[in-house]
Amino acid sequence: MILHRAAWILPITGPPIRGGFVGTSAGRIISVSADRPEASGPSGPVEIVDLGDVAVLPGLVNAHTHLELSWMRNRIPPAESMPAWVAKLMALRREQGSDPPAPIADAVRESRAAGTALVGDVTNTLAAYDLLSASRLGGAVFHELLGFNSPSPQQLVEAAQATLDRLTPHADWRRSIVPHAPFSVSPALFQEIRRAAGDLPVSVHLGESADEIEFLRDGTGAWRELLGRIGAWNEQWRPPGCGPVEYLDRLGLVNDRLLAVHGTQLQAPELARLADARATLVTCPRSNRWTGAGTPPLEQFYASGVRVAVGTDSLASVDDLSIFAELAHMRSLAPHVPAARLLESATLAGAEALGFADEFGTIEAGKRAELIAVRVPPGVDDVEEYLVGGIEPDAIRWLN
Ligand SMILES: [Zn+2]
Repeated sequence: MILHRAAWILPITGPPIRGGFVGTSAGRIISVSADRPEASGPSGPVEIVDLGDVAVLPGLVNAHTHLELSWMRNRIPPAESMPAWVAKLMALRREQGSDPPAPIADAVRESRAAGTALVGDVTNTLAAYDLLSASRLGGAVFHELLGFNSPSPQQLVEAAQATLDRLTPHADWRRSIVPHAPFSVSPALFQEIRRAAGDLPVSVHLGESADEIEFLRDGTGAWRELLGRIGAWNEQWRPPGCGPVEYLDRLGLVNDRLLAVHGTQLQAPELARLADARATLVTCPRSNRWTGAGTPPLEQFYASGVRVAVGTDSLASVDDLSIFAELAHMRSLAPHVPAARLLESATLAGAEALGFADEFGTIEAGKRAELIAVRVPPGVDDVEEYLVGGIEPDAIRWLN
């Protein structure tokens, strides 16, 4: 066993331990304690490693990104409205035709260097899968479908399932089919995806822009126009006349496997419904700012009791895939939320949402020793606050 001594240990399940010890062996956490455990134990001889002025915490969880879009870094400038931004993204993607691997490989490396252990990776092309499964990252591959007027949703889902089945299985990668958003997926396709998903997590962009709220309420606005322009409008579709959460609820998708991504526009009763269903809200505030979707009401998110996880979204709408950078932005938007809760969002909440909480998200005996050590200057008293203040990759290293 290796016994790591550090100035701080953040188990996430409880308050930080000052001057604590984490024992690891064969990639597993053996012990966590404030005092030095016995010099030898069931795991054989003990080697003590003094890590010095660092905080040890579980590897972070980026619960929402699109690694295949990494080549779009700095290619689509920030926009005033989300439909305008999306139209530019669609045009750029059409022009390029494929998702090149080199920027994906860079993004995977950068994610790891920024302290990320797990990702929820939304994909249309599966261009990132081989790179991800060869990396140290784990997580969920969300094979995302769009289709507002597709004649056969069942065939669409079957074809997607066949594509997923052809991928080489990997124990650290769970694969499921997910819907893109209420304005790009027909009710019939939502139903097919729900059936195919079974007990697996389902991630969906939800309540992201004001335009989505208008579209569901009245069937009008920028999303309606965009669907018409690209020939995807569905003549049979009638606006449900409700908000995004109720719409999804009617489709049977509001449950403890749901990852409602963004929620920028959601109201208190909708947040309460998500909390009640034990769903997860994945916030990506830096992306919301970039795409013109608005500012997520983070204080309200936390006050509602819903499980909040953190995502960066893709490099098309954010400067980097650092969860520490996302946390720093969250802190600026939500100065009254305890830092401990923000850190829990970036670790345990994400691991739970992706279905990996048995192995990741906290420092507890039996879990994976996927731990990071973050340099903390001596004299820091509130280590949690320090960690949500912006941590650069050069201050982070992996324990193993
Ligand atoms: Zn997204």
